Amino acid sequence: MEDVRKVYRAGSHGTAALDGINLCVSVGEFLALVGPSGSGKTAMLDLVAGLEAPEHGRVIVGGRDLALLSDDDRNDLRLREIGFVFPAVHLLPTFSVEENVTWPMEFLGIDWRAAHERAAAALDAVGIERAVWARRPVHLTLGEQQRVVIARAIATEPQLLLADEPTAGLDATTGEEILGLLRRLHVERGLTVILATQRAADGRAGERVLEMREGRIVRVSRPARIVSSDRRGGETIRARLGSAVLRMVAGWLAAVRGGVATRGHGVSTGVQLAGRGSAWLLAALPKGHPQCVC
Ligand code: ADP
Ligand code: MG
Repeated sequence: MEDVRKVYRAGSHGTAALDGINLCVSVGEFLALVGPSGSGKTAMLDLVAGLEAPEHGRVIVGGRDLALLSDDDRNDLRLREIGFVFPAVHLLPTFSVEENVTWPMEFLGIDWRAAHERAAAALDAVGIERAVWARRPVHLTLGEQQRVVIARAIATEPQLLLADEPTAGLDATTGEEILGLLRRLHVERGLTVILATQRAADGRAGERVLEMREGRIVRVSRPARIVSSDRRGGETIRARLGSAVLRMVAGWLAAVRGGVATRGHGVSTGVQLAGRGSAWLLAALPKGHPQCVC
């Protein structure tokens, strides 16, 4: 996004949903947008998806300036390259779980057999058991429904997944499972993910977190990622590392806050060692994104 401004007009008044956004998301990045209701998160995702156009600035997706594409090409890009996990994109209540995942592929011209194979693979990937594939969504828990929404989003094999408040309405444990699933899909498939959430804790699923307020990015952070933990206590790790090593790293150790227990990938820029009670955590500092120029 280059200097993007989006204004929604209501009568003679205009609300700037996005106000001067400059943002570059790398291929394969997991980006989290965190901010209160009305801060512009959904507006950002709508612009990336080409569902809305900015008043000012450019939105470039996969090297293509969305404003220069025809409506058909924009729709095609959305259908083929973007997966949606949006609250407004409900499961169809009269379709079975399997049918809900299969039908978008009809628009891609994928034949029936291949579409069913892809749907089956997607449902397996999100952990929905075959026993419930014939059920209608109303007979699933909210967490299972959200997994089916994710299966539908990945069945078309998109490059980019847009997830808008995917944990809304879920209890904390189920919400964490859904975020863990998104992270796993990101790592295993190299999926680029943009997650929008009101919950600061959810944002830690991202490699980079943008805090939004009133249509602006007000803070950028990169949460540390825990790559190994030793619950046998400080004495064990002290003995293993030796006091000399501990002294050496002591200068640049910082406490790892929060509990993102997912494995980072790629080369890290360093490690953090932190104690919490009797547990010790070793975390990789996230690497930068060299393809990203802004
Ligand atoms: P968030 O997703 O962070 O809750 P939104 O992107 O939905 O925030 O909204 C940002 C601002 O834009 C809000 O002030 C909201 O009222 C306004 N807005 C969003 N969509 C519309 C719309 N379709 N019409 C008018 N105003 C809108
Ligand atoms: Mg929103």
